[in-house]
This record gives sequence, structure tokens and C-alpha cells, in this order.
Amino acid sequence: MRVNYHIHNQYSSDGRGSTEQVCEIAAQLGFEEICFTNHAETLSPTGDEWMLDLVEARQRYEQLQHEIERLQPDYPELRILLGAEFEYRPEWVETLDALTDSVDFDLIIGSLHVVDGEQISGGAVSSYFKTRDASEAYGRYFEALAEMLEWGGFDVVAHLDMAKRFGVKHYGPFKAKPFESQIRGLLETMVSKGLGLEVNTSGVVQAPAEPYPSLDILKLAKDAHVATVTIGTDSHVPTSFEQGWDVGEQMLRQAGFGEITLFSHRIRKNVPLEPEPEEAE
Ligand SMILES: [Zn+2]
Ligand SMILES: [Zn+2]
Repeated sequence: MRVNYHIHNQYSSDGRGSTEQVCEIAAQLGFEEICFTNHAETLSPTGDEWMLDLVEARQRYEQLQHEIERLQPDYPELRILLGAEFEYRPEWVETLDALTDSVDFDLIIGSLHVVDGEQISGGAVSSYFKTRDASEAYGRYFEALAEMLEWGGFDVVAHLDMAKRFGVKHYGPFKAKPFESQIRGLLETMVSKGLGLEVNTSGVVQAPAEPYPSLDILKLAKDAHVATVTIGTDSHVPTSFEQGWDVGEQMLRQAGFGEITLFSHRIRKNVPLEPEPEEAE
């Protein structure tokens, strides 16, 4: 099934494109379900700090919700969902939980872009990696991710090995093996708390040249009986709407997943991945 469950547009400070532009391109590309997952937090006017304000965020999601309601009848073949990407920071948890209670989200994805106060994705990231070796940089990232799972105020973990986005530039290709027991622990926690896993295909066009997470981790997830799996391209402009999607879908099959999870008002349902197209004779 052609589903894209990680999309940003003009309602994220780092996104562009109107809601209609995104729907139009999704429909043209034959997608059946899309979910807007704009960031709850916004960039400060100086552009170097992220801020979270409950009233501002709620208004922004409600505005998008109204646009979705207005546009949905024009796209009978495309289901358009309202989601959110929540950034875990201990000081934001209360506000994020309040936001969840006041907006009718279809899906909430949880993510981590800041570890110990340092950016690990976007902006000034190099100090995090420059001052740590690979073992410490990834190890500490996965520890922080465990804290995020402990909170658990979301449905699906976004880009689980996101630290490799810039990590690969410092340490070379990312290997999951040295962190396997830590990653297995994360996956077990996810299963016990009913949290799903996202295959985020933006990594295909970024430095790692593979989705987040890597195939190794996806296989561990299959092993750990993770049953809730979504796929998203994390596009921030309409022109990159489909980036890496085919690679991600193929990787799901390779890891042994036969189903994908759909969401509606945060209720999930698994449907089969479509059978692979037959080779032309
Ligand atoms: Zn993200
Ligand atoms: Zn995102």
C-alpha cells in the first residue's frame, strides 16, 4: 500500500509547501494515505533555538485540521491524516501531553534530535560528534532514546538510528552490531509499551544512503516481534515527497515484514504490504 506517514509542510518551521500542494503530489504519485507530521515546536526568530508553546501549537494543528477537512472531498482516492512529530525533552513532556489531550491526532511520532542539550541532527551538530568517539556518541543517543520510551507519549518511534545521519560523516558507515544489546533492549521496551517503529526513508538521500533504521535493526525488530510498523519519507518540501520510499518498502520485505500499520484517531490496524509486482515475461 502506498502510504507516507512522515510529512512536513509550511506548518513546520523547517517545512515548505501548502497542504494542497502536498495532497496534489501525493495523489499524482498514487499514494492512498498520507499523514502530516509537523513539529510541535517552532524555531525561534533568531533561528537557533526550538520553542514549544501549547496555545500556538494547538492553533497551528487546528488550522491544518480545517484545511484537511476542506481538501479531503477533492481527493476521494487519498486519505489525509493529521499527525504530529513530538520532540522528547524532559521539560516539554507536560506540554506535549496537554497537546495530545486537546488535538484529535491520527498519529503521533516521537523523536529525538537533541542529546544532552546538543543538536545531533540539523543546525550546529558537529560539536556532539567531534567531542565523542562512535561508541559514546551512539551509545549516549540510544540511552537518551530509552528515556524517551520511558515517557512513551506517542505511537511510533521516528528514525530510530537518526544519530547516524551526521555520525557517518565522522565515523564512516554505521554498524548496529556494537550496539545490538542496547537496541534489542529498546525494541523490547517498545513492544511491551505498544510503541511502533517507523521506517524513515529520508536517509536514502542523505549521508547514510539507507533508511532510518538500517536493515540490521529492522531485522532485530522483526525478531523482537515489533508488529506496528509505519513508513514515511520525512519530506520537508513537496518536491521530495517520495524520497527513498521504494527503498524503504523493499527493506521492510527484506526484513520479513508482510504488513504495514495504518492509523486513524490513534487507533491502529495492520494491512498487508502489497505483493511484489511480478517480473514481466
Ligand atoms: Zn525528525
Ligand atoms: Zn520529521
